Amino acid sequence: MKKRRPLPLRPESLLLVAAALGGWAVWRMVERRLTPTNPKLALRYGLNLTRGPRRVLAVSAHQDDLELFAAGTLRLLALAGSSITAVIATGGDQQYTSERTLDQIREQEERDAGTILGYDDIRFLRFTDLNLAHNPRFQPDLEAIWNQVRPDLVFSFDPTAPYRSAVHPDHLAVGRAVLNISRALGDDAPDIVFYGSRDPNVLVDISQVVADKTEAIRAHRSQLTGWKRYYNLATRLQTRLAGRPVSVKYAEPLRYLSLPPLRDESYLENWAAQEPVIR
Ligand SMILES: [Zn+2]
Repeated sequence: MKKRRPLPLRPESLLLVAAALGGWAVWRMVERRLTPTNPKLALRYGLNLTRGPRRVLAVSAHQDDLELFAAGTLRLLALAGSSITAVIATGGDQQYTSERTLDQIREQEERDAGTILGYDDIRFLRFTDLNLAHNPRFQPDLEAIWNQVRPDLVFSFDPTAPYRSAVHPDHLAVGRAVLNISRALGDDAPDIVFYGSRDPNVLVDISQVVADKTEAIRAHRSQLTGWKRYYNLATRLQTRLAGRPVSVKYAEPLRYLSLPPLRDESYLENWAAQEPVIR
């Protein structure tokens, strides 16, 4: 008599199926969060944004923030002849308190990343980590750099709709300070672009410079330990997902503050010349 074959769906198989379904659900969730309401128009805004040359002020809290969230866009702007001043608000030294010189190591890593991407200048404010929101010197110091650089385009964390993995008190403090300074400038405010946003309205096709982004992230050697070893893989996956709705290989999702309603196609013609409207 023939031996009966075991059932194909054993408990382990069911677990595998459940894990695959769970992974797919997470994938879809991440993908949806990175997709603007009108992806095609967002991609055209991205082209317009990186056309350059611009006077860029890129503000971040820690040494690797800009590279993780906006390196591709900044690289494209540099290639278009923009001048880029990066501001790193904290010393980034709270993660490894046993390493006394970590702030110096991280500054060198940021300089290496800046060389790869084409930053003209990097200002290290060296405020204490995790306390930026309560530091009364942060906003005035940022304002002083702002007045020197006189940027027409400012990059910052999104303080109003941050992406879940970007929620950090220092990140929010950076975004709020940028918003405060912009609001005080009124009609003279530059264009503001938020990175780390869960409400993106711009997609920048970074396919041609994704290798530079990867290399710039790799420059942050002291950070690539534990799960952070997978930073590069994670950002590759994230930018890949962001590019899918518009069929580009890699894209960075950003939130431009003064965008008109995305249905207004006619606005695109003169978009670069429009006065920003800070919401
Ligand atoms: Zn950070």
